[in-house]
Amino acid sequence: MRSLLLPIAALLSSSSLAAPPADLGYELVEGLTTEVGQRLAGTEAEARARAWAVSRLRSLGFANVRIEPFDMPVWVRGAETAEVIAPFPQKLVLAALGNSGATPEAGLTAEVVGFPSLDALKAAPDARVRGKIVFVWHRMTATQDGSSYGYFGAVRRSGPSVASKKGALAILIRSIGTDHHRVPHTGVQTWSDGAQPIPAAALSVPDADQLERILSRGKPVTIHLVLTPRMTGTHQSGNVIAEVPGRDAGAGVVLIGGHLDSWDLGTGAIDDAAGIAITTAAAKRILDGSKPKRTIRLVWFGAEEPGGFGGDAYARAHDREKHALTAEADFGGDRVWSFRASLADPKGALTAELTNVLGGFGVGPGAGAAHGGTDIGPMVQRGTPVIDLEQDGTRYFDIHHTADDTLDKIDRAQLNQAIDAWSAMLRVVADTDDPLTPLPPREGH
Ligand code: ZN
Ligand code: ZN
Repeated sequence: MRSLLLPIAALLSSSSLAAPPADLGYELVEGLTTEVGQRLAGTEAEARARAWAVSRLRSLGFANVRIEPFDMPVWVRGAETAEVIAPFPQKLVLAALGNSGATPEAGLTAEVVGFPSLDALKAAPDARVRGKIVFVWHRMTATQDGSSYGYFGAVRRSGPSVASKKGALAILIRSIGTDHHRVPHTGVQTWSDGAQPIPAAALSVPDADQLERILSRGKPVTIHLVLTPRMTGTHQSGNVIAEVPGRDAGAGVVLIGGHLDSWDLGTGAIDDAAGIAITTAAAKRILDGSKPKRTIRLVWFGAEEPGGFGGDAYARAHDREKHALTAEADFGGDRVWSFRASLADPKGALTAELTNVLGGFGVGPGAGAAHGGTDIGPMVQRGTPVIDLEQDGTRYFDIHHTADDTLDKIDRAQLNQAIDAWSAMLRVVADTDDPLTPLPPREGH
């Protein structure tokens, strides 16, 4: 046997450029999360991730591999502790939200005022909130399509601004998560016009439930809070771009990708090393097959988490180029179960072909319009047709934006199914003779 194996090994190494690892998707997630780790946008870690990306994409044989840099304001985490002082002294576990303001170094101590929802906070008279620590305990539950994130996520996205404008000293929210572990979920929030930054953090789900019970006893609740994040100024981020060249430059580009940056707590395995891995492994299969009609442009977007800076930079740089279609993977590493396409002719032959091909992987047509992710959002708003390959998000928000977003959460079989579905979709849209007629531009863009 040994004498047979040696020539095979030699053959493999001599053609290493053409032969990707059998499990390229998993290998990319493993490599990025191990050799770079967390990749907070605009930091030195994200710059190392870009260098890793360029090296990896070149070695896989992609064309036109390059970085397109852009500048952005950078926020970094500091100390973060909280404890109930009265009536039942105990520590709480929390994580600052992106762009959170800071307490003094020694912290602040104030009474807590609780609300069951963002709407209840909005409806409260300012006098109830002024000088207090606001706590909102809105509960999110898991859904396969992740649709509840839009509604429940509003507490994180805009709750801090609402609390600040009412004169609150700080805000704590129940994590926008569906787990029951003592692991808080961070995420971005953006100060609305006129809102002064205040300390803003998410309690882990069990800690939020605990604080809700403490409040329900009806006694005044006082918390001591220390949060010392800070803005470090304007720094460089960037998009990493690679291509599978097509035969027909006039047919437009198929734009795909995920985001390279991650939050700082975990190693960003499901968010979004998995999306990068799925789209890259699928594009690599097209690269290794017959030359497609359309160029496939793969983008590892920078700085998605703090507010979609990479997607905006991409659109500014490229929106005069013809884009035939776009799709993004930014919903973990689990299997694709449904697809939606926003094409001008939804009942056409292309949709029928996609339905047929994706059906082979257990992926059925879904309801509603495709919308893409944050990174491709600006191109979708400009009228680029979009396909969503919807991944199973049942466990996504158990892990999302936590210290638990690590490699062990990747299920190889599901990751490979997603790569199979993406490869099949890419082969169809890259080669189709359908003109991929865009929908009429949306109002307001
Ligand atoms: Zn993401
Ligand atoms: Zn995210």
